Amino acid sequence: MKRILITGGAGFLGSHLCDRFIKEGYHVIAMDNLITGDLRNIEHLFKLENFEFYHHDVSKFIHVPGELDYILHFASPASPIDYLKIPIQTLKVGSLGIHNCLGLARVKKARVLIASTSEVYGDPQVHPQTEEYWGHVNPVGPRGVYDEAKRFQEAMTMAYHTYHGVETRIVRIFNTYGPRMRLNDGRVLPAFIGQALRGEDLTIFGDGSQTRSFCYVDDLVEGIYRLLHSDHAQPVNIGNPNEITIGDFAEEIIKLTGTDQKVIYKDLPKDDPKQRQPDITKAKNILGWEPKVDRSEGLKHTYEYFKAFSKERLFDEAKHREF
Ligand code: UDP
Repeated sequence: MKRILITGGAGFLGSHLCDRFIKEGYHVIAMDNLITGDLRNIEHLFKLENFEFYHHDVSKFIHVPGELDYILHFASPASPIDYLKIPIQTLKVGSLGIHNCLGLARVKKARVLIASTSEVYGDPQVHPQTEEYWGHVNPVGPRGVYDEAKRFQEAMTMAYHTYHGVETRIVRIFNTYGPRMRLNDGRVLPAFIGQALRGEDLTIFGDGSQTRSFCYVDDLVEGIYRLLHSDHAQPVNIGNPNEITIGDFAEEIIKLTGTDQKVIYKDLPKDDPKQRQPDITKAKNILGWEPKVDRSEGLKHTYEYFKAFSKERLFDEAKHREF
């Protein structure tokens, strides 16, 4: 049985990856310090013999007994609200955290895949973004702690690959959505759906003309699964190129939820990227991967997930977390 360590295993993406690797017959070790992760995302796995959970901060020395074939480094705050509140932890998990993972991989002779991000492109001046683009990042702006941590993480990973011969993979993840997103992480999709379900107006930041391209989580997981098993060490974009303005996205959520609330406009956060769309030519050519789930279908699944929440949970979880 192959053994895989997934850091950030109780988070949105980490927990979906745990599910996938369990389904594929792996022994899964999830590690999470539960700062932004949530045990409810993986509680259904605790009864399984081939699942273990380590409540641990990957930024501190990590010890995992036994063999390891793969390490997925997915621990990190990942929304602007989170990394503004915990900027130092964000920097540490992208730097000390990956250093620990790569050191462990060296000892165990494991292959490492790291979660990088479209944020390495910053507020891009090239559209759509190809992997060759170096980005347009403000290191001292509010997003700098996340963007630079992820950029450092890529550099560290490549260094271990070239200097120590560690097998490494780098996925650059574009906006992804689906069940298990947190209602209070400030991301646009849980924000809009949560507002609709609570009977509040939908808050558009800026004039709503900025664009994003949203990928359903199952598609992303499939791309990551294929990348891990490929022999490609250079970064690969995984995302859905179907681009939409945030204004139009709000209209889609209003239609989906049937809410009679309206949209209201708030200030655009500093350094908010104006447009974002992945060029996925590389993923198509190298992995034979492309997204399969339409936004209408993915949004329906996601809405159903949040609709099942009790009124209490809908309101409780909307409160911003104090870390
Ligand atoms: N956004 C918005 N209303 C909200 C939350 C976010 O209009 O209540 C906007 C945000 O300013 C950004 C886009 O939606 O332009 C996507 O934001 P998100 O935080 O989901 O992801 P990111 O900016 O990291 O792509």
